[in-house]
Amino acid sequence: MDKHDNLIGGAWVGADTYGENRNPSNWDEVIGLYAHGSSADAERAVEAARAAAPGWAAATPQARHDLLEAVGRKLAERSQEIGRLLSREEGKTLAEGIGETMRAAQVFKFFAGEALRVTGDMLASVRPDIDVEVTREPVGVVGLITPWNFPIAIPAWKTAPALAYGNCVVLKPADLTPACAHVIARLLDECGCPPGVFNLVMGRGSVVGETIVTHPGVDALSFTGSVGTGSHIAEVCGRLKRKCQLEMGGKNPMVVLNDADLDVAVSACLNGTFFSTGQRCTASSRLIVEDGIHDAFVERLVAGMRALRVGDALAPETQIGPVVDGKQLDSNLAYVDLAGKEGAEVIGGERLELATNGFFQAPALFLGTDNSMRINREEIFGPCGSIIKVGDFDEALAVANDTEFGLSAGICTTNLKSAREFKRRSQAGMVMVNLPTAGVDFHVPFGGRKSSSYGPREQGRYAAEFYTTVKTAYVFAG
Ligand code: NAD
Repeated sequence: MDKHDNLIGGAWVGADTYGENRNPSNWDEVIGLYAHGSSADAERAVEAARAAAPGWAAATPQARHDLLEAVGRKLAERSQEIGRLLSREEGKTLAEGIGETMRAAQVFKFFAGEALRVTGDMLASVRPDIDVEVTREPVGVVGLITPWNFPIAIPAWKTAPALAYGNCVVLKPADLTPACAHVIARLLDECGCPPGVFNLVMGRGSVVGETIVTHPGVDALSFTGSVGTGSHIAEVCGRLKRKCQLEMGGKNPMVVLNDADLDVAVSACLNGTFFSTGQRCTASSRLIVEDGIHDAFVERLVAGMRALRVGDALAPETQIGPVVDGKQLDSNLAYVDLAGKEGAEVIGGERLELATNGFFQAPALFLGTDNSMRINREEIFGPCGSIIKVGDFDEALAVANDTEFGLSAGICTTNLKSAREFKRRSQAGMVMVNLPTAGVDFHVPFGGRKSSSYGPREQGRYAAEFYTTVKTAYVFAG
């Protein structure tokens, strides 16, 4: 079986141990062996990035553009093959896998353009004959740590801006899904990325991740993953006075008002709650429904949920792929059990035994819940949604905001006033009107508030806030 190595200082470097990357649609299938880097590998990667940093910071915008453009083009050209690999390692459907690969291609192409558009400001000083220039410079070496649920899009939306703005990178992908990050490393290498500018070190969070987070040679850290790991990283970065950006969990509300278009609301909730097996930080997990539409909405949603076809990620008829692994499935099933114990009426949610040895779970709806239950306070990260019945808009808004998270929030309504009010008063970083809470564009900021996010936004031109540092120069012409 092929062994996949780490990319350190422009060389493909083997490891003492390799991890098996398995297919959650059929756990008997090993996709490949991927290096489990050591702490020393991570240190060497940071040193290689430091050595390459002055050269890449001085590279022309054209050189940075050309590299990112070439990678974006290759990702798009090979989206079928890479999307298939993604679906095999993560379990989302083939259409979702190809879509995510195309998204990664778009992100690389967008930041190829941004490399040409780094701007600054020139102002007159308050003192005579002095000019003030505000310019953006690379931060230096950035550590990028990514989760398993978007194995190509998230590494892309961190790597592409990092390189566009002149930084060198050490990327550590999730140990469950290293293959897509490995593809990005291979493409960067094939497209002529100078040695050390981009380094990939796969392996354990507690070994490789921890070394990157604590290494004095890293200037800034961008992390996406759970609140627990993110909080730990924020503490270390605070102690070391290191810039950091964290994207973490969600418990995203979707409000359905009495005046909602039922077709729009049911379709938005089926998508937002269950697609990608609910394994999206922006998934709608709390469906907050006004009492006048409650019964009709629940009847339609349950029918729609029961019709969703769960199966092998690569089967053309599959709409919901497997859960990512056995540990996540056990956790989901424990929450289904808890929902019953907390007094909810549980529909679906059982483990499904299909033809292959995969982690299949029927989508679940919890009816008759209230917002104080643990199932409505903790992120489940599976194909599970709760219905919370409310009396009016004000109650819906209060329940939507009553959470430690603040990533995405949605409302289904045909009333412009309610939509406008929700947009203004929602405590989430992203608000959706008549659209699923999940599913975003690549050229605008992404991120949340409260425990969901910390630090500057990702994506779009707002990414410059994290990946550059500002210099203010005063010039007296004499
Ligand atoms: P996780 O926190 O377990 O792991 C994320 C990454 O951190 C992995 O690469 C892991 O190896 C690494 N890591 C673990 N311990 C570390 C340590 N001590 N030091 C450094 N790195 C360490 O998260 P996960 O289970 O991979 O991902 C699921 C979570 O990600 C969910 O909570 C989900 O909501 C969140 N997520 C958030 C967003 C967002 O943008 N807000 C997007 C996708 C996923």
